[in-house]
Amino acid sequence: MKYFTITFFALITIYSCSDSSCKENIGVNINKHLLPDTTWTGKVTKTNAEWKKILTSAQYNITREQGTERAYSSELNENKDTGIYYCVSCKNPLFSSATKFESGTGWPSFYAPYSGKSLRVSTDNTEGMSRDEISCQRCSAHLGHVFSDGPPPTGLRYCMDGVAMVFQKEDPKAALTKATFAAGCFWCEEAIFESVKGVREAISGYAGGTTENPTYEEVGSGQTGHAETVEVYYDSSKISYPELLKVYFTSQDPTQVNGQGPDHGTAYRSIVFYRNDTEKQLTEQYIRDLDKSGKYSKPIAVQVMPFTKFWPAEDYHQNYVELNPGDRYVQLESIPRLKRAKKELGMLTPGP
Ligand SMILES: [Zn+2]
Repeated sequence: MKYFTITFFALITIYSCSDSSCKENIGVNINKHLLPDTTWTGKVTKTNAEWKKILTSAQYNITREQGTERAYSSELNENKDTGIYYCVSCKNPLFSSATKFESGTGWPSFYAPYSGKSLRVSTDNTEGMSRDEISCQRCSAHLGHVFSDGPPPTGLRYCMDGVAMVFQKEDPKAALTKATFAAGCFWCEEAIFESVKGVREAISGYAGGTTENPTYEEVGSGQTGHAETVEVYYDSSKISYPELLKVYFTSQDPTQVNGQGPDHGTAYRSIVFYRNDTEKQLTEQYIRDLDKSGKYSKPIAVQVMPFTKFWPAEDYHQNYVELNPGDRYVQLESIPRLKRAKKELGMLTPGP
């Protein structure tokens, strides 16, 4: 890893950081929304004898003796699978495959760490140069170095020893972004969102109330506060949140209060569940624009609520329209609603 020498102070300049805590936060918040939550279990400390018992000699040499593996020697260098790279010593999540890039150096390279609790940066003055050494924040294992010749958006290159990491494949959904909407019958909304380009999957479920583990019957009774809801997994490089809002508002009558079409009651009310201020502002702006447009004679009745928890519905509700094309409700309501949405949305849905 004898590449460009930079000092940590150069990084401080780049990120306009003024306190030492920034050291541990380089590149954090990049693609944060793509990454699943991580659990921090506190520091892991062991004696060298204890590390030797659980590590191979190559792993021990890299992580505890600041060794460097031969370039192109790790199979993780070429790994393109979706998943998480963990510290081989303590299983702290270090990097997501979402930030891996081909650096041409022969060492697995990333442009941002998994979280603010993944890495520690310190100055390494060995081998006649000053480099920024990367170690595991939880167990202090040596992992590699960081350089300032990486790609956007951070401009950093975390040059890692593959031996110091273990890779675990993750559900590809973990690399997608989630958005959550209620607009009446979830069978219908699930089928509509799943026909949109850039949406990988939609899950039928319940949200907006307080009852834990609600059942379909409980939600239908109106006693739980929940509404039939869909959780949408989408690729944000293919479809944007405002485009999802367009799908959402176009696929229903957003002026109907506490119901949608033939379904009445709070379980069928319309809600946009926002996950951050940007989603909230985009939604509120969309509603203002729709009210102003004159498209509807009545005011928009869609609620805008912070997302708290989504409860997936019973298995038999998933992919209901696709699996039950002969169902009377599906024929009379879901399929016509899907066709209307596709026609109005045009370019957002794939061709025939
Ligand atoms: Zn570790």
